[in-house]
Amino acid sequence: AETVKIALDPRVEAFLAKGPKKLFIGGEFVESLSGKTFETIDPSSGEMITTVYEADAADVDRAVEAAERAFHGDWAKVSPSERGRMLWKLADLMEEHAEALAQLETIDNGKPVTHARAADVPLAIDHFRYFAGWSTKLSGEVINNSAGRNMLTYTRHEPIGVVGQIIPWNFPLLLAAWKLGAALATGNVVILKSAEQTPLSAIYLAELIQQAGFPEGVVNIITGYGPTAGAAITNHPRIRKVAFTGSTEVGKLIMQQAAGNLKKVSLELGGKSPNIIFPDADFSKAIPGALMGIFFNQGQVCCAGSRLFVHKKVYDNVLADMTSFAAKMKQGPGLDESSEIGPLVSSEQFERVSGYLQKGNEEGATALTGGSPLDRAGYFVPPTIFADVNDRMTIAREEIFGPVVAAMPFDDEAQIADVIRRANDTEYGLAAGVWTTDLRKAHRVAHALEAGTVWVNCYNALDAAVPFGGYKQSGYGREMGSYALDLYTQVKAVWINLD
Ligand code: NAD
Repeated sequence: AETVKIALDPRVEAFLAKGPKKLFIGGEFVESLSGKTFETIDPSSGEMITTVYEADAADVDRAVEAAERAFHGDWAKVSPSERGRMLWKLADLMEEHAEALAQLETIDNGKPVTHARAADVPLAIDHFRYFAGWSTKLSGEVINNSAGRNMLTYTRHEPIGVVGQIIPWNFPLLLAAWKLGAALATGNVVILKSAEQTPLSAIYLAELIQQAGFPEGVVNIITGYGPTAGAAITNHPRIRKVAFTGSTEVGKLIMQQAAGNLKKVSLELGGKSPNIIFPDADFSKAIPGALMGIFFNQGQVCCAGSRLFVHKKVYDNVLADMTSFAAKMKQGPGLDESSEIGPLVSSEQFERVSGYLQKGNEEGATALTGGSPLDRAGYFVPPTIFADVNDRMTIAREEIFGPVVAAMPFDDEAQIADVIRRANDTEYGLAAGVWTTDLRKAHRVAHALEAGTVWVNCYNALDAAVPFGGYKQSGYGREMGSYALDLYTQVKAVWINLD
């Protein structure tokens, strides 16, 4: 396939030229204490982009010390309004550097640069602006109590202190923003670990954080592996909270590790989200919506609509339309502006998803398009639509985290209980989609679905003001919106005896 890559932004070239990327600790860029580095790979070619210092437990210790100093020192002197201004300044700087951020995200993760420009970067900027506003709006209550006429009681919403944050590779910049925005607006200090597959945009962000004027040690950003640097965060006795986004499997480890000092834990985990198309849907919206719901970000989306339930009356037509569109999607390197779908993030992810394609074929599903990995450099798996899937097949049960949808018919026109039962028959509960023009049905189904987000006649809609998080084994706690403030504050009740 012919590809025309865009010219790199000079800031990206300068950034990449600067040798091994350093950790951001105590307001400075530093080497890891061990001096170890690791490579980050361009998934469109399989070639190394650059090297990055590898943090482990000793570096986490150093970051905790810097964070504690900031929490009890300079950060405590910063007023809520100044905190808000710093977050806003950071958003402004990100806007100035938007193209560089988008390109770095694409080089490291593989996603089409057009998507990084249209979604990842502006959503991350917006997220910081939204939480900048909350900095000045945190307050407790004065409570009317029955304990005594001259007893004044009120609450304070105080920051937790040193917070650890661990993020995955699918939206590296956006998920860093989701983590940092609420934690900083509420006055915490942070140690954030990016995913080892995609360390670059978080390091670039650290440079902007440094320029935005946050006191040293308020934000510390480290790069390294899960079982070493990640576990050092979750095990650390002086980190009081850990916020994690990643797989359900690792989420369970995080809880066990966090039990040592009973850290507060919030988890955003995996999904196997149902997307239900009723026969009365507006297909001009439902079909592109179902395609975007599974193929956006190469399907590496925690809330991807990977189980597609289509009413049997319209099943053949919907699948035919989806197939003809998917078969024509232009797949190529993210830096080619004509690419509509890029490579998967890593060789591990490529192997994992290829394994599921094989499993789907073996278990008797039919690939209407795609179905086997592409034979070319880089980690390319084509958009794949599996038909003849039943609820028990592996591809209908397990999170694939790739561009693979399992389509299944349903046929109860009068009563919708059966498709709801099937949609809910999973240990996951992150999101769900419903396509219908019947208002009553839309609400009834939305209420019955066991998911933290239900999209009606849309999919993958996200906004900084709207909470996001999982039911069941998709995690707990809600990021975004006012709900996220609860993750990063603790409530103190103060009693004053006025007698
Ligand atoms: P992962 O769980 O393997 O890794 C996520 C992060 O955890 C990485 O930074 C990794 O280094 C770290 N980690 C790994 N082992 C660790 C350990 N023992 N202790 C501490 N940290 C450790 O997940 P992944 O494969 O990178 O990401 C894909 C998964 O993330 C999918 O399951 C997806 O659904 C989920 N996800 C969820 C959301 C959400 O908001 N719910 C968003 C994006 C991704």
